[in-house]
Amino acid sequence: MILFDSNYFTYQSNELYCESTQIKKIIEETKTPVYIYSKKFFTDRVEELNEAFSEIKHKIFFSAKSNYNINTIKIFHNLGCGIDVNSEGEIFRATKAGVEGKDMIFSGVGKTKEDIEAALKIGIHMIKVESFQELELINEIASQKNLVANIAIRVNPDVDPQTHPYISTGLAKNKFGISSSQVLEIFQKGKEMKNINFVGIDMHLGSQIKNSGPFVDGVEKLVELVNKLKNQFGISLSHLDIGGGIGVSYEPSEPHLNAKTIISDLVPIFKKVDCEIYIEPGRFLTANGGILATQVLFTKKNDMQKNFVIVDAAMTDLIRPSLYKSYHHIQPVDLYESETYVADIVGPVCESGDFLALQREISKCKSGDYLAVFSSGAYGMVMSSNYNGRRRPPEVFVDGNQFFIGRSRESFDYLIFDEKIQEKLHQKK
Ligand SMILES: *Cc1c(COP(=O)(O)O)cnc(C)c1O
Repeated sequence: MILFDSNYFTYQSNELYCESTQIKKIIEETKTPVYIYSKKFFTDRVEELNEAFSEIKHKIFFSAKSNYNINTIKIFHNLGCGIDVNSEGEIFRATKAGVEGKDMIFSGVGKTKEDIEAALKIGIHMIKVESFQELELINEIASQKNLVANIAIRVNPDVDPQTHPYISTGLAKNKFGISSSQVLEIFQKGKEMKNINFVGIDMHLGSQIKNSGPFVDGVEKLVELVNKLKNQFGISLSHLDIGGGIGVSYEPSEPHLNAKTIISDLVPIFKKVDCEIYIEPGRFLTANGGILATQVLFTKKNDMQKNFVIVDAAMTDLIRPSLYKSYHHIQPVDLYESETYVADIVGPVCESGDFLALQREISKCKSGDYLAVFSSGAYGMVMSSNYNGRRRPPEVFVDGNQFFIGRSRESFDYLIFDEKIQEKLHQKK
């Protein structure tokens, strides 16, 4: 069996560690399932990106939706990153993590009046606008509050990111952004709005993009628009935002994709404009910095000689395999068994779609063993649910030989904390 190549999750005496902390020591305290993140991974990725951008004036905005624990947000903020938020709830989270409005930017195709009010209230650095109606609404709200809103237009550059259809966002047929052909007109109309101040132009092509091609095409379109806006309308923008989407490797045989492989092809294009470059990575900064540790409950074999490994983690904890058929590498925490077999690794939820891996080669395991589901640091915990009355798992942050519980397992009270028995409803007629 090939082991996942990681500098952050390694075996010492055949036992899995995160940095220099024993995974089993964490499990002893939290039980399973549990998310475990490496702070060093997060730190190294920011450094790697800053290095890729070293020639260019830039700022990283961590996309909080990939992993929104307030400790994760704080780690990235302390590393100099701003935060890309997607809702009033993420503004709340980032604020609780100590981030000020001037370090937040706001994404989303369907912002509500409340979202916009919350953003203006904290003095958000910039709101990305995805339709003319949204621009009008922001102008109206800002005018009532006697404020000027800093705005970027999110362009839909119609570029194929060559990724999973659910995570491609920059194609003409997708709901996101404004078509390039309408962008100039929107800037022109918005220029007349008293409470709108245009500061930038933005795109986000999709997620898990592994070569520079789509980025090159998209950035070239944005650069052309920036120059047109300046020359034809006298609108000069201070930043160009290339969105997130840098891909990561989920397979153990595939080496880590250095940020340079994508960014270095963009540097010459960035040099054609006088703008600060913004980037909004989520997955790249977090995915391979986390595992989901789970325990084997039972193993069984059916009539068709098919093996099942039933574990205590489910689609409610990590939905990516069920939702996108995503591959997550799974390895034992204790490497004691060299013989492998092929099995479906499934959770306890009452859905056949509840699996972590299908027909997967794995070391033979038995009830009580612990397994590590790799690459779970992005779009893991944030997409979890309480389906089947399951409590969300804890999140643990490792820093060298220390670990910190950044979120505990939900209590049973949490499951019903906003429900109330309405006595009148239950009165017998
Ligand atoms: C989801 C999202 C991101 C982050 O995407 P990743 O693929 O995780 O890097 C960045 N910007 C916007 C607007 C997004 O919706």
